[in-house]
Amino acid sequence: MHVHGRGFYQYRKTTIDQVMKEAANGLINISAFMPNTIPAIIDDIYLEYYFCLAEESRRINKNKFKQYIWFGVTDENIIYCEHALEKDYVIGLKIYPLAPDGQGVTTGVIGVIHDSTIVKAMMLARKQDKVLAAHCDDPIIIAQSKGNPIEAETEYVKKILKLAEQVPGVKIMICHVSCRQSAELILEAQAKGIDVVIELCPQYLWFDNEGTNWNLNLNPIFYYCFNNLRGSEHRKFLIELLTSDNQSILIDSDSACHTREEKLQSKPGGIPSNQELVPTIITLAIKHGIAEARVAQLLSFNHSTFFNIPAPKELVEYEWELKEDHLLYKLQRYQFLPSRLQARPY
Ligand SMILES: [Zn+2]
Repeated sequence: MHVHGRGFYQYRKTTIDQVMKEAANGLINISAFMPNTIPAIIDDIYLEYYFCLAEESRRINKNKFKQYIWFGVTDENIIYCEHALEKDYVIGLKIYPLAPDGQGVTTGVIGVIHDSTIVKAMMLARKQDKVLAAHCDDPIIIAQSKGNPIEAETEYVKKILKLAEQVPGVKIMICHVSCRQSAELILEAQAKGIDVVIELCPQYLWFDNEGTNWNLNLNPIFYYCFNNLRGSEHRKFLIELLTSDNQSILIDSDSACHTREEKLQSKPGGIPSNQELVPTIITLAIKHGIAEARVAQLLSFNHSTFFNIPAPKELVEYEWELKEDHLLYKLQRYQFLPSRLQARPY
């Protein structure tokens, strides 16, 4: 549910076409693109254009699964949000926080300042029985602390959950939960009857800020993520959630590739993880004794239920073989490829 297929002018990152190639391998049957592309998916023209690129790629790659798109919310585009939600391929609305001065500390591209906009977006999503996804990182706290502390995440999680109480029945996804406190806030909200899911991502389950599983041949900047990687106690807590039977937990890839130069210059968050998602989670499952049926829930069945996506719900056995990364990047490929082909942590 959380894939960055950039396309447009960001062809040196993972493109729409590359994501479609992965999906065509049969490993991915539910997939939704995030809207923080450049230009962003915040109006009908770019939504339509992006959808056409995705459909063309899907056809060329003979990918039989439907591709979904999140539509980005701003304080000015509520009318576009309403129209976008009417499209069957728009899975829901995505909130990125913006500071009152309009600066997006974490995204720099699009976002929402006013709580009233978030409430309107929730109401629109509820009307179409679609989902509101929130990137939780409070820009005011980030600006004050000059970093992304845990409070920046938890304060925004609290805000979203509080606003959700005003819109009973709205479906919420809290994106890339990185710490115990956020997870506990969401679990409490679930117990109160709010239909909110915890999105977990491989980077927070596999890595932490203590260097666990890091590849020492890589520049540490590659482990810079939004939300930040937290201490090992948070990673362990999130792994424990996998072993529960909570069906309002999803594991998504949140793949976000950036070149070494970009990482060093402007510190964009994110690591490449789309192809690595499944092997990472299976490795964790084997290590922690998580049943196959639970793995299937976390990677696919729970998504299918929460988002009303018709996807196969039988367990299928796959045989794994070690393969070279088949994705080629048009630019920077000689700087980029070796790091992806080097010894992988699993
Ligand atoms: Zn993301």
